[in-house]
Amino acid sequence: MVKQSYPRIEINLQYLKENVAAIVKKCADCGIKISGVIKGTTGIPQCAKMFQEGGVYGIASSRLEQIEDAINEGIDLPMLLLRVPMHSEVDEVVRLCDMSLNSEVSTLELLNEAAAKQNKIHNVILMADLGDLREGFWDKDEMVKVATRVENEWDNLHLSGVGTNLGCYGSIEATADKLDELVAIAERIEKEIGRELEIISGGGTTSLPRVLLGDMPKRINHLRVGEGILLARDLDVFYGLDMSFMHQDVYTLKAEVIEVKDKPSHPVGKISIDAFGHTPEYVDRGIRKRALIGVGKVDYGSIDEIFPKDKGVEVIGASSDHTILDVEDAEREFKPGDIVSFGINYASIVYVTNCKNVQKVFV
Ligand SMILES: *Cc1c(COP(=O)(O)O)cnc(C)c1O
Repeated sequence: MVKQSYPRIEINLQYLKENVAAIVKKCADCGIKISGVIKGTTGIPQCAKMFQEGGVYGIASSRLEQIEDAINEGIDLPMLLLRVPMHSEVDEVVRLCDMSLNSEVSTLELLNEAAAKQNKIHNVILMADLGDLREGFWDKDEMVKVATRVENEWDNLHLSGVGTNLGCYGSIEATADKLDELVAIAERIEKEIGRELEIISGGGTTSLPRVLLGDMPKRINHLRVGEGILLARDLDVFYGLDMSFMHQDVYTLKAEVIEVKDKPSHPVGKISIDAFGHTPEYVDRGIRKRALIGVGKVDYGSIDEIFPKDKGVEVIGASSDHTILDVEDAEREFKPGDIVSFGINYASIVYVTNCKNVQKVFV
């Protein structure tokens, strides 16, 4: 196996744990339990462990292999599958997860059979689509009917509650009104089945503003939070919330300089297409000092998602395995072998932690 030190993603586990604990505490003060969503960090078991140590109620992921890794790491918390199950995976869902989010009768039937075969009771949260238009029941009468079937008909399923997801496809804000709609659906179901639901799951990171601003509907008692713990950037940048109580630098991408030269800033010759078939705009700024580093779009996705920590350094372009930095105005002199550090966005955290070419280093 090739031994490489760079590119690497440094993950500050202590910061991660402190972020988990901070969100768990704020939510606990509002009577809300947190399932820590580990998909944003590709379910890295060391990170999943920090969710546990930070005090989450459970662990959640969209992907079964990440939940299995967490179990193998010795994490014995309720495991929640976030992505509505595929028919082809129901046996594994029941084997690995205590609970799943659901929206299809045919899948619930298969989950019930799988649970019967494994002598288990599988817990179900039914999803309501409140307008964001990804998963969930659109017809709420149908949802109430299916809820009563889970309650009465399928012996190896237990109806734990209801949930919703907002701010994913349709960019719909998790306002107090939207979450009141979810509570109203829960209460319709409770009336039908004659008992209280254990869980009313009000969404992910985009529902945290309700907690932080103090207008979360009382009966919401569960959230599934990933980004707001791993990065804590979206609520700051997009919602203008003060997130200074969180570490926004749990993840640092580091890459090595492989070439430093003065070159023209505008390509020389007949312009056609770049490595990805596009023709970007090139601004002519004359001759500039540039550093080439050994990391590229295959590793982190898009150059808009990475932010050099050095003042005066600008990311001007990239191909699959190379990134070009303008270092003309940098505060230090770059030479081959030097290391450059970047803060990265959620999408890039997902990519770099998924990439076997990027070393994972825990600090
Ligand atoms: C990914 C996901 C979450 C967590 O989203 P964050 O924005 O990372 O908090 C919650 N619920 C569902 C259904 C998801 O797919």
